[in-house]
Amino acid sequence: MSSSRPVPIFDGHNDALLRLWKRKGPDAPRAFLDGEGKGQLDLPMARQGGFAGGLFAIFVPSPRNTAGRGKDEPPVLDTAPGAPLPPPLDLATAQTAVWSMASILVRIEREAEGRLRICRTVKDIRHCVDHNVLAAVLHIEGAEAIDPEFETLDVLHQAGLRSLGPVWSRPNAFGHGVPFRCPSSPDIGPGLTDLGKELVHNCNRLKILIDLSHLNEKGFWDVAERSDAPLVATHSNAHALSPHSRNLTDRQLAAIRETDGMVGVNFAVSFLREDGRQDRDTPVELVIDHAEHMLKHAGEDNVGFGSDFDGAMVPKGLGNAAGLPVLVEAMRKRGYGEPLIEKLCCRNWLRVLEKTWR
Ligand SMILES: [Zn+2]
Repeated sequence: MSSSRPVPIFDGHNDALLRLWKRKGPDAPRAFLDGEGKGQLDLPMARQGGFAGGLFAIFVPSPRNTAGRGKDEPPVLDTAPGAPLPPPLDLATAQTAVWSMASILVRIEREAEGRLRICRTVKDIRHCVDHNVLAAVLHIEGAEAIDPEFETLDVLHQAGLRSLGPVWSRPNAFGHGVPFRCPSSPDIGPGLTDLGKELVHNCNRLKILIDLSHLNEKGFWDVAERSDAPLVATHSNAHALSPHSRNLTDRQLAAIRETDGMVGVNFAVSFLREDGRQDRDTPVELVIDHAEHMLKHAGEDNVGFGSDFDGAMVPKGLGNAAGLPVLVEAMRKRGYGEPLIEKLCCRNWLRVLEKTWR
């Protein structure tokens, strides 16, 4: 089956805002809208590949990895067992960067002339997908910018924030992120703090999605125990296939199934490969292998994609958002019917977001 427009894909995670923030300059919105042949996601790449929308992450880098190429790649210093996590960030530093990245997205929308919209509801997203408008959902990866009274959370929600990960892979006031380690169990540290448990309650109150992707296993179960929303890991893979600390065990996948939640398969080669190596020469088929394992353990209504574009090294056969049709072809080759492909590419994400934001 072929058509002029590629199969629309809604995606659980990208770091385009981080790339544009690091790039600097008042023309950052134009760089995204017109494209400048850099990075893995901009509007021309999105349109070419059928990237219809996704969660746009705001991530505040630790000082020592600001210069790093990809943020979801293991920092060199963090590969040895027992190596320390990046140090915590202070509130003011985190807030300054969060406002700056949020403003980049706002300015992209303003300059987009209807080609991108910040979506606050699933109705918004569906309208965008139907009309070839890029659907951007504001997400924060690591809650360092959130104050202990949760005032910032209220304001950010009003500004469009619909998804938040309590931690990135470092400690903060809310919990302990999972370090980048392979091979390693995800059960590798303490879970949420008391304030982190309050954060779960406040996200539930505002119907903000709680992203489990960078939590260690204890943190995952801490959220599972008290959240009233479906469990969602926006960009994580199967630990059974790649024994990385960032990946999810079959028990975690089963918990996602039980709450009718969602897991987005991550394209980062180090979370795809059995050896966890940073090697661009990784077959695209591995993405489908992880999806297939998750279909078995999380269920066919609870799996989608979470590319990590602009945050990680992805298989060279995929390259960037323009390469997404390669993934769709790989699913067809695997014998997936069009209804299942549509679920994995978009329908599952929209259904679970609708339940979360209800
Ligand atoms: Zn991430």
